[in-house]
Amino acid sequence: MTTGGEDTGGDPSTSELAKKLSVLSLSNEYEAQLYELKLQINHTKPNFNGELGIRMRRKDIANADGSMFELKLHAAKIVVIGAELSAGEKTITLKTSYDRKAQTLTLTGDGAGVEASQKDVLVHMRYVGQINPVNTYKDQTRGLFKTNYLDSVSGRSDNYLLATHCQPYFCRAIFPLIDEVHSKVPIKLTIVTKSKFKVLSNCGLERDPEPVSLSDKSVFEFKQTPPIAPSVFGFVIGDMDYVENSDPGFPCRIYCPVGEASSCAYPLFVTSQVVKTAIEQLKTPYPLDKLDFVALPFLSDGAMENWGLITVLTSQLLVSESADKSAKLNLRQLIAHELVHQWIGNLVSFDDWSCLWLNESFATFLGNYLLSKAKLSQEDYNDTYEWSHINHYESLLDEDCLYDEAAGKSYIPSIQNFSSTVDTGLNSSTATLFDKAIYEKGMVLLHMIAQVMQSDEKISNSDEVSYNKFLNGLSEVLRLFKHASVKPFDIWHVLNKETSVDLLSFMHSWTRYEGYPLLSVSYENGELVIDQNRFIFNNDPKELSVENNPYHVPLFIRILNDSGEEKLLNLVLTDRRTSLNIPLDNFVLINSRRAGYYKTVYRGDTFDRVCHSISKNKLSSIEIAALIHDYGKLIGQKCSSSADIVSFFKILSAFTSDSCVIDYRVLDLALIYVDTFKVIFLHFTEYSAFEKKLKQFYTKIYKKIGKWEKIQNVSRQYSVYEMRARNSILQGVADEECIASCKKLFKNYVNPKNDFFLPKELVSAVLNNTMRDANQKEYKQVLSFVKNADASNLKHTNCMREDFQTLALSSFSFVENDDLLNKTLNFVASNIDSKLIELGLLGFQFKSSRAHKLKLWNWYKVNYDNFALRSLRKGSDWSKQIGATLKNITDIVLGNMMQYEPELIEQGKAFADSKIQKLPEHGLRETIKDIQTKNNEKILVASFYDDLIRQWEL
Ligand SMILES: [Zn+2]
Repeated sequence: MTTGGEDTGGDPSTSELAKKLSVLSLSNEYEAQLYELKLQINHTKPNFNGELGIRMRRKDIANADGSMFELKLHAAKIVVIGAELSAGEKTITLKTSYDRKAQTLTLTGDGAGVEASQKDVLVHMRYVGQINPVNTYKDQTRGLFKTNYLDSVSGRSDNYLLATHCQPYFCRAIFPLIDEVHSKVPIKLTIVTKSKFKVLSNCGLERDPEPVSLSDKSVFEFKQTPPIAPSVFGFVIGDMDYVENSDPGFPCRIYCPVGEASSCAYPLFVTSQVVKTAIEQLKTPYPLDKLDFVALPFLSDGAMENWGLITVLTSQLLVSESADKSAKLNLRQLIAHELVHQWIGNLVSFDDWSCLWLNESFATFLGNYLLSKAKLSQEDYNDTYEWSHINHYESLLDEDCLYDEAAGKSYIPSIQNFSSTVDTGLNSSTATLFDKAIYEKGMVLLHMIAQVMQSDEKISNSDEVSYNKFLNGLSEVLRLFKHASVKPFDIWHVLNKETSVDLLSFMHSWTRYEGYPLLSVSYENGELVIDQNRFIFNNDPKELSVENNPYHVPLFIRILNDSGEEKLLNLVLTDRRTSLNIPLDNFVLINSRRAGYYKTVYRGDTFDRVCHSISKNKLSSIEIAALIHDYGKLIGQKCSSSADIVSFFKILSAFTSDSCVIDYRVLDLALIYVDTFKVIFLHFTEYSAFEKKLKQFYTKIYKKIGKWEKIQNVSRQYSVYEMRARNSILQGVADEECIASCKKLFKNYVNPKNDFFLPKELVSAVLNNTMRDANQKEYKQVLSFVKNADASNLKHTNCMREDFQTLALSSFSFVENDDLLNKTLNFVASNIDSKLIELGLLGFQFKSSRAHKLKLWNWYKVNYDNFALRSLRKGSDWSKQIGATLKNITDIVLGNMMQYEPELIEQGKAFADSKIQKLPEHGLRETIKDIQTKNNEKILVASFYDDLIRQWEL
């Protein structure tokens, strides 16, 4: 499957019950050795005919009493017409009984048993199954389904496609079997159907069908599969075209609807390249004789990793070479993901559906790694590969620290808790078995294990990420458990042979405990002291009395030896606290490359060491970005102190040092956080001292990066992060020079020469800075952009029309001129029913003068009743819109602008109280409550102001 699955919570107590009720495990006296399956499929009929031979072996001859034969199989929507048992010379007719609810079928040979000496038996049956028509996206693709499509060449709509979808429990709708992940049995398939169709299955054909006329039927006999999990068995029949190459040493094909073969070249190229990389990296041959990807118009999971026969929705698979970057990246990742499944998941399977998350984590994690090695595109490797990891880590860290006090539980449960409570019963589907957060956490853990294993080796200077040791371990897993099913434990056990770290305890800790730790690093009595506590957003684990066991934290400590060479200490912290005998001068940083899943704060001397390393370019961009995120997100939470915000701004100072080389991705990230703090200080503190320092910082950075003439002539291939950073700096400095260069860009945009180009990342600086010093003409011009962004100018930017309009509106109250500012206020008031009109007031948020604040306050007071009453008018479409707008305006005015001095806070309160009393209910009470909650964090940040001013040096 692909991994866009929906989060499905569900009450654990009911799913536990469901699990107990569903009798899944069949205990039979016999074990299946081979399924011989022959299907007669007429695409015009609602049913198909099947003939099944199951070769079976008695498990324990000693216990057999020979009086009775009984075999229980899974079957759904199947009607058996006749069944016999052959044992030696004897043939016995079998009776059938069904348990439709449990989806089982029992075959019994009454009174005439099998001789105890008879070890091998053959059960043979004839049956009828259903073909499920699928006509819309809402129809589930289960068992054998069919659809028809219109081909783009002939325009005929009588093209047929029949395909299977077995994951998790739908193979039993195709033939009766032991439909369990750990029951892997070879299948020998033969299909009789119309000659004109292409017919595909997991393996290639035994021989070409006898030539007959196209309207006749042919026999398509496939090679016997290796032992295969029922969920990845499959076949496809229908009108299809294909392209093929044999680069990896066996045929790779992409099958598509008739007429679409020209869109198959890129997916074929990616498949054949990545499969070669997979064979190389996993050190294990591709397990089958051919590999097909098939584009289907309908498929419920988007993609299905049938062994050797991967099915994917047409729209996702048929991506041509000329498609945009992100569509191609998605395709490469999808193909790599499905290819990993061919080894991990299919060759070696997980023995329980509660492990679906891990199967998917492996596929995505290793798939992306294979892409980084295949190097088909710049976006797949080196830096980009690592940056995608850090972005992934960050979003998971954000979610995994949330604790719902009212419900008394974490947003993301522990992996163990999830696995033991997920409903794997008959009503489950890939969507309910899969949990996005657990799957993402699985990837983080795999990443961490791979790094832990690799870190035993001497630190490599290469930028390229390598997981050699992890892959060595995996290839051993593939060798040992080939064609079998495993538990996660089996994998960790084998991998453990490749590392000095106790991986079993390591994984035990990370799968049993919820969340992750915050590490605090300090220097005490000549030793490096590291301690850990569970990190909970805006709360303290002790106060909540939640689990706070020490995690097994891989420290990945970067140190210098006495001759100045860099080393990596691969230590795992398993206690609450540890002291290490590392001289301060030799210490660089912990959590090298952000390989560990945790946050870190450095205290005192250790922080100064880290800053020193930043200014001397000793840290990687990833490591600095991690620092910025860790401090940036900590500030304002209950556990934060002024030391955290001082540290954050000291990192900025390190950027300004002469020796520091700027990476725009890191700078851009830091400046986003700066804006957040700036707006808080602007409205919740005295501000002027900070304003001065901040301006000093921006000016230093402005001079340091230099080359400002280049923004006048940006080519269409430009660095996004550089332009974003420059955009922030132009607004942060906003002196005459910056305003002049923005105005120049504005002028060139309004009257563009042929090759003029304005990158979208600079638009807000150009508009806001132009407006700061706008004359009547410029103001009018921006107004015309708001009303309708001129299409002929839009050719000269990559900014979308709507975005340009929004940015133009947002620049409106950046004007300083009093008359123009009044115009803006009138404009907003007279367009109050327009969506997002409150953006016209955004510039006020960046004005620190008392006069400006009072201007907006007065405007708000004068217009309030009118807005509020209009939001209450019944039967009007825009009354709701005005209500939403008024809430946002109140956020700006009462939430921010009125917070900077006690007298105004009081005025604001009194105003709100009187409106709540005098006007009919219009939502103000709620808005005020929201503001108070949101402002708690801001008030805490503001309380750090004096310390910051004292300690932030530039
Ligand atoms: Zn998958």
